[in-house]
Amino acid sequence: MTAEKNQGFNTRAVHGGQAFEPRTGAVVPPVHFSSTYAQDGIGGLRDGYEYGRGTNPTRDSLQEQLAAVEGGKHAFSFASGLAAEDSLIRALLAPGEHIVLGNDAYGGTYRLINRVLGDWGVGHTVVDMSDASAVAAAVNEYKTRFVWVETPSNPMMKVTDIAALAEVAHGAGALLVVDNTFASPYLQNPLALGADIVVHSTTKYIGGHSDVVGGAVVLNDDELAEKIGFIQFAVGAVSAPLDAFLTTRGLKTLGVRMDRHSANAQAVAEWLQGRPEVEAVYYPGLPDHPDHELAKKQMRGFGGMVSVSFKGGEAAARKVAENTTIFTLAESLGGIESLVNYPSEMTHASVKGTELEVPANLIRLSVGIEDTEDLIADLEQAFKQL
Ligand SMILES: *Cc1c(COP(=O)(O)O)cnc(C)c1O
Repeated sequence: MTAEKNQGFNTRAVHGGQAFEPRTGAVVPPVHFSSTYAQDGIGGLRDGYEYGRGTNPTRDSLQEQLAAVEGGKHAFSFASGLAAEDSLIRALLAPGEHIVLGNDAYGGTYRLINRVLGDWGVGHTVVDMSDASAVAAAVNEYKTRFVWVETPSNPMMKVTDIAALAEVAHGAGALLVVDNTFASPYLQNPLALGADIVVHSTTKYIGGHSDVVGGAVVLNDDELAEKIGFIQFAVGAVSAPLDAFLTTRGLKTLGVRMDRHSANAQAVAEWLQGRPEVEAVYYPGLPDHPDHELAKKQMRGFGGMVSVSFKGGEAAARKVAENTTIFTLAESLGGIESLVNYPSEMTHASVKGTELEVPANLIRLSVGIEDTEDLIADLEQAFKQL
C-alpha cells in the first residue's frame, strides 16, 4: 500500500511511497542504480523514466514519503541540506532580490546566503525572529522574497511563532521558509501552520543514523514546485540512489526515535538544570524556557537537542565536551548516538565575528536513544573533572 493523507504519522512514514514491487512482491522496493532507461522506440519511455539525474524510482519513493510526512503536495530530495537550500534559492529568487534570515541560523546556511548567493546578487538582512517589528521592518525595506526561519533554532533553541511569522511575511508579499531540521516532521509541520516552504537537512533526524548526507524541500504550490523541479533536474544536486534508500529506511522509524530522543533530552535538561556548574540550560521542554508555551502549542514534543552554558566559561565548556565518553565529540546531530559539539569552534566556526556568533561557554548536545541513566552518568563523570 501507499499512504493516505488522513492516516497517522507513523503509517504515512512507513508506507508513504513504499508500494511493494509488483513483479516479485518484494515488500521493500529494490534500489534502482541504473543511470539510464531503455526506450521502446525513440522517445518511448516506460513509466516516464529516461535518465537518472532527472528521475529515479528510489528517489521518487523518498520524495513521496517526505511529502507524506510533512503533509505537503511536492517534495524534492537533494545531495545535502545545503544543496537543497541552494537549489531552492536559485529556483525562486533572482539577483537583486532579498532574504530575511534569523540571527541564529545554521552557520552553513548563513555562509551560503552571505558568501555564495551574496556574490550572485541576492541580498540578506539578519534579524531576531522573535521580534516581529524587526522582521516587518526588514521585509519592507527591500525586494524580500523569503523570510527564512529555523525553529527551534541552532544552537540557542529559540522558538519562533510560525503562524505569526507567516502573516508578517505574507503581508509583505514574501514567502515563509522554515528549516524544520531540528523538530523533524514528527514534531512539527510548518506547512499546516501557514509556512510556504519547508527545508530539511535529512542528514539529521530524518536519516537518523549518521550514515547518509541529504536534504529536502517540501511545499504545496504547483507553480513554485515546477521551478524547483526544473533546477533539481538542470543543476543536478540530486540524492544518489543508495543515499535515497538509506534516508527512506531511516524515515520509517522517525516517530519511535523522536519519542525516545525527546524523553532522554528532557531528562538530561532537567539533570543539567540542577547542577551548580551550569549557567543556563536551553531546552524548550523546560517550563521556564521563555518559549515553552509557544513550543507546546506548535510542536508535538520538544525534540532531542539541548544546549548548556557554564559558569566556568569557555574552559569549562571545552573540558566537558572533551571528557564525555558516550556523548561523542563530533559535528552534526539527530542520529541515534549521542553527540556533543562545541559550536563556537565546530558547527558555528563560520559565523565567528558575525552577528550570528555563539557564546564561547556553550556546548550543544544531540541526545541519542541510549539508556537515560547511562547518558546522565556520562555527563556526571565529565562534570567531576571540572
Ligand atoms: C545540518 C544542517 C543544515 C545543512 O545540511 P547538510 O545536510 O549538512 O548540508 C541546514 N540546516 C540545519 C538546521 C542543519 O542542522
